[in-house]
Amino acid sequence: EQWVQWNTVDQYLTDTLVPADAALDEALRASEAAGLPAINVAPNQGKLLNLIALIRGASNILEIGTLGGYSTIWLGRALPADGQLITLEYDPKHAEVATANLQRAGLADKTEVRVGPALDTLPQLAAEGHGPFDLTFIDADKANIPEYFGWAVKLSRPGSVIIVDNVVRNGTVADPDSDDPAVLGVRRLHEEIKAEPKVTATAIQTVGSKGYDGFTIAMVND
Ligand code: SAM
Repeated sequence: EQWVQWNTVDQYLTDTLVPADAALDEALRASEAAGLPAINVAPNQGKLLNLIALIRGASNILEIGTLGGYSTIWLGRALPADGQLITLEYDPKHAEVATANLQRAGLADKTEVRVGPALDTLPQLAAEGHGPFDLTFIDADKANIPEYFGWAVKLSRPGSVIIVDNVVRNGTVADPDSDDPAVLGVRRLHEEIKAEPKVTATAIQTVGSKGYDGFTIAMVND
């Protein structure tokens, strides 16, 4: 019944602060119709990503984990007219749905969906001279989070923001004996951040329509 309350409050917050948006609604509908899992960020979380990108003044954004492009649209909407976003996705079917959703949202010109395992596409981006990115959103397979974070730092500049989703995982992140690869990935991320003078970070627990989870937010130092 706790979740019912979290969901009711999220509904209220979204109804009042996150106006309905045809392209975002259609992106979720098309994703569901194509059989994609409903593991996108919630609307009020998507708007938080949008706000952080706006506050940062991000004109070059990287996303790792596209799914149907729901969070991509939120981030893409924060871009200035000459801004660019690259989003990395392993599954060609997800990438296809996302590409259509981004097109419908009017973001085709500003976004590139790159297909392949991110551990292959990230070095590709670096070799092609992409970056520095002003903001990176990490939301793909959780076991590889520390590697993705390392690439995000490499592809950043001082002041760049890195956001990592799903770092609390129903509280299991605090279990030092966990053998869940996702928990191990998040715990290793936090150990690496602790030892990395190049970034300043914190993490926040969240509850809502997506359950009990959280995000880590980091800034690359001067
Ligand atoms: N950011 C999306 C949103 O909020 O709308 C949700 C992303 S979903 C949680 C994670 C995505 O990462 C899935 O589409 C999955 O196929 C993709 N993924 C999993 N492993 C990956 C990998 N090794 N490289 C790139 N993408 C991967």
